[in-house]
Amino acid sequence: MSEKRKITIAYGDGIGPEIMEATLRILFAAGAQIETEVIEIGQKVYESGVFSGIKPEAWESLRRTKVFLKSPVTTPQGGGYKSLNVTTRKALGLFANVRPVTTLNPFVASKHTMDLVIVRENEEDLYAGIEHQQTQDTVQCLKLISKQGSEKIIRYAFEYAKAYNRKKVTCFSKDNIMKLTDGLFHKIFNLVGEEYPEIEKEHRIIDIGSALLADTPEKFDVIVTLNLYGDIISDIAAQVAGSVGLCGSANIGDQCAMFEAIHGSAPDITGMGIANPSGLINGALMMLVHINQPEIAEKIHNAWLKTLEDGIHTGDIYKSEISKKRAGTQEFADAVIERLGQKPDILTPVEYSREVKKGFEIKVSPIVEQKKVLVGFDLFLENNKLKPEEIASQLKIVENDQIYLAFISNRGLKVWPEGLPEAFCTSHWRCRFKAREFSKGIGAEEVWKAIQGTLNTGLDVIKTENLYTFDGKRGYTDAQAE
Ligand code: NAD
Repeated sequence: MSEKRKITIAYGDGIGPEIMEATLRILFAAGAQIETEVIEIGQKVYESGVFSGIKPEAWESLRRTKVFLKSPVTTPQGGGYKSLNVTTRKALGLFANVRPVTTLNPFVASKHTMDLVIVRENEEDLYAGIEHQQTQDTVQCLKLISKQGSEKIIRYAFEYAKAYNRKKVTCFSKDNIMKLTDGLFHKIFNLVGEEYPEIEKEHRIIDIGSALLADTPEKFDVIVTLNLYGDIISDIAAQVAGSVGLCGSANIGDQCAMFEAIHGSAPDITGMGIANPSGLINGALMMLVHINQPEIAEKIHNAWLKTLEDGIHTGDIYKSEISKKRAGTQEFADAVIERLGQKPDILTPVEYSREVKKGFEIKVSPIVEQKKVLVGFDLFLENNKLKPEEIASQLKIVENDQIYLAFISNRGLKVWPEGLPEAFCTSHWRCRFKAREFSKGIGAEEVWKAIQGTLNTGLDVIKTENLYTFDGKRGYTDAQAE
């Protein structure tokens, strides 16, 4: 076996140290050729005043080893603390979160059968964490979806399907409502999908898609989706398969990769010695494949299956009708170690094909420059006194030979002109100004003039958003009921 591969590990918080100890014992007993560098992350680091939960020197180790096996951490609520997971994924460019979920009936009880992989976009979406409060009663969160980010994850999902001989890729989005953001993701899915004629493609709206995933998971193979949806559906799938304690996840980037369990630090069972280490074990198996030690992964995976088949179960999956022994975290690890070299008798043994491509080079198409024309702007106001028609009449003063007030909406619903009197209005108003000559557009100075003109009326301008066309296509949505 080649020289030992350095990896960075972190014991994390809550049950983190317990499951890491169990996992490392199995890895070393199986002969994994790894050398660990330990970094400290999580609660203690947060409490020492580092709001990211990771000290600057820890990045040195990650940059050096490029492989991170991480236990879950506790993110303190509020107080300006940033999620360490989100920070690490973004800082290391870990764009793909790969979460396989497989049922192990009848040994791990599940009402369903599934063998699927969720490929979740890991860097964009609402997880950009760009949130604002600009009025007394309303807050906002910016959902950012890029062409590059979408293409990268969708291509990754198809390449993954190809490499692992998967037959179908399903895209989940909500593009019936979020026509631009989720719409872009769906459109890119269709475009990239054309390059993979051998793979079946389908699209589901996230709500019915999640319902089907919980009801007929056997119908899915690879699922690719946006960050938030992927986060939610992977917990659903794991729990439906038996327990969130079972599943591992790989976070893959061009340079670095991070492997973890999908669950959190489980403060409710911390220190009791009963946590299921399987999630982190499964994360570690993906790591072994990534660092080119698939034979060790195969050995551990088969011993793990045999342990479950022999009815040695941690509390989260224990069922008196099928389990033979309720094992604690370390006892479970001991049972896996005892079975290294064995294969399951009834469950299908795994074979980590030596030919499987460990990494795929993901190319992203260059952005083609489009003709961008400013055709109007949305001017946002805070006001909790005036009615829509009163705001409109004040804003008439801002109109000129270039722009006119097209409509006013509140929470996305058009309330002027011809709004419904029953509509409940908050203090957050959007006032859309459009170019009189749409095809010609307007100069950016019109926006500044309108802001100044509105401020002169005494109205409180909180922000503006420009409206553009790109090669003649509108880069914005209309209000509902317009
Ligand atoms: P959680 O996943 O920690 O726990 C949810 C439930 O599942 C609990 O009842 C817990 O006991 C059980 N559970 C989880 N892992 C288990 C295991 N291995 N064995 C047996 N039972 C297990 O979710 P939570 O309670 O919402 O979050 C707790 C903390 O974890 C929060 O601070 C959250 O921010 C953090 N978190 C971290 C990560 C991560 O580091 N990757 C992921 C999710 C949540």
